[in-house]
Amino acid sequence: MIRSWLDGLTHVVAPPKCCLCYDLDTPPICSECDAKLVPAWLGGCPRCGTGPTADCPFCIGLEGLDGARAAYVYEGAAGLAVRRLKFHRLVALGRPMSERMLPVLESAFPDADLIVPVPMHRLRMAMRGFNQSELLCSAFPQDRVRRDALFRIRYTRQQARLRGKERAMSLRGAFRATPEVAGRRVLLVDDVMTTGATLRECADTIRSAGAVWVGALTFARELPGV
Ligand SMILES: [Zn+2]
Ligand SMILES: [Zn+2]
Repeated sequence: MIRSWLDGLTHVVAPPKCCLCYDLDTPPICSECDAKLVPAWLGGCPRCGTGPTADCPFCIGLEGLDGARAAYVYEGAAGLAVRRLKFHRLVALGRPMSERMLPVLESAFPDADLIVPVPMHRLRMAMRGFNQSELLCSAFPQDRVRRDALFRIRYTRQQARLRGKERAMSLRGAFRATPEVAGRRVLLVDDVMTTGATLRECADTIRSAGAVWVGALTFARELPGV
């Protein structure tokens, strides 16, 4: 119901223009901006899909995840899309961004049983009004999407303001999973992977609740060392 309300709202308030370059009379992402998105999932690495088949330099930070894929490299247009969605509240971007993640889901994780958006604490949800990770699941098979299988039990500072070790510390024990994940293959969904700390903590929580496999799919990824 909330989604249909949001869809209706964006239809009313969003003028027909590209959310990235503000070119008028184009869809939420115009073809020129679309062409600037750099895929990050077409490499040979079996774990992250970005680097080469062996000795992948981009698997740093993916410990604790059975697999990870990002649709695009964060730098440039993809980073702009992430920031416009989250901080400029251009929720009209949610669906087209999700549509661009769908081929990655179908190709890399066809056997994920449950698709779980990284949850937001209810206080932040109240402030922002939407969870971008949920919007990024909007084009996925809804019978596998579980918005309530994982929730945040502790309010944490904005991760972007913390350094690596501080991030991991601040997140410890911040999430809880429902018994529904036990025995399942669970795919976490988020907008961006930076250090991977949030996804690792979510994965640990889900694995402790009995999941047999935990992976992650994000719209973008800040590649280590780039
Ligand atoms: Zn554009
Ligand atoms: Zn890799």
